Amino acid sequence: MTAPVDVPAIEIQGLRKSYGSNEVLKGVDFRVGAGEVVCVVGPSGSGKSTLLRCVNRLEEADAGQILVEGVDIRDPETDLNRVRSRIGMVFQQFNLFPHLTVLDNLVLPQRSVMGRGRAQASEVAMSNLERVGLAEKAKAHPAQLSGGQQQRVAIARALAMDPDMMLFDEPTSALDPELVGDVLAVMKSLASEGMTMMVVTHEMGFAREVADKLVFMDGGVVVEEGLPSEMLAHPQSERARAFFARVH
Ligand code: ADP
Ligand code: MG
Repeated sequence: MTAPVDVPAIEIQGLRKSYGSNEVLKGVDFRVGAGEVVCVVGPSGSGKSTLLRCVNRLEEADAGQILVEGVDIRDPETDLNRVRSRIGMVFQQFNLFPHLTVLDNLVLPQRSVMGRGRAQASEVAMSNLERVGLAEKAKAHPAQLSGGQQQRVAIARALAMDPDMMLFDEPTSALDPELVGDVLAVMKSLASEGMTMMVVTHEMGFAREVADKLVFMDGGVVVEEGLPSEMLAHPQSERARAFFARVH
């Protein structure tokens, strides 16, 4: 289902989402072009994770349109599993199986979701561990790895499913500061390979260097978006100005 290049990877219009009486997305328009890296920043509680989770319907939106590679994922006719199989997700928590080796953490989902045989799944797993610089840890268990290494394994696990796009929700927020750089380096190399990426992050250096577009959210709306270098140097809104002053 690789989409033609002119179809956006993600196209969201008028997205609304409430939890009870708390409206956390108040009409969000959001777009990620094929091959683009879009970083989403904003204060805690502004709706960043909810937006990201709506993209593969981990959350059900209340209103609005969500197209993934041109497919309306809110349409009941849509094969959601098929759409989800095109989207790799990486969260703050790595969610590796502690009782499995690193290799088997990558092999298992390929076998159960994609129906790959063990030999092929192992081969794909090894090439993706190589990609994140951890081939030598294939036989280790997650507890033997640093947090940064575990997150790189989680990235490799997502990549092993051959996604068209990768969504990251604060992938470095749970890491000790000295481990952040290796994870960002892996994400940077993915971006340079042309992977489509939506990245919720507080790493402004990464956003400035890697993102094609920076999106600033606050209070359930997109307040501002643009080229990272321009936005960071000259934020248009007072809210963005105040936020960037705090996170710099
Ligand atoms: P961010 O990722 O920007 O910190 P979130 O999308 O996680 O923001 O949360 C936005 C708002 O929605 C917050 O007020 C949060 O408390 C609320 N919220 C998020 N998830 C749930 C949930 N499952 N149930 C109730 N409220 C939620
Ligand atoms: Mg969040």
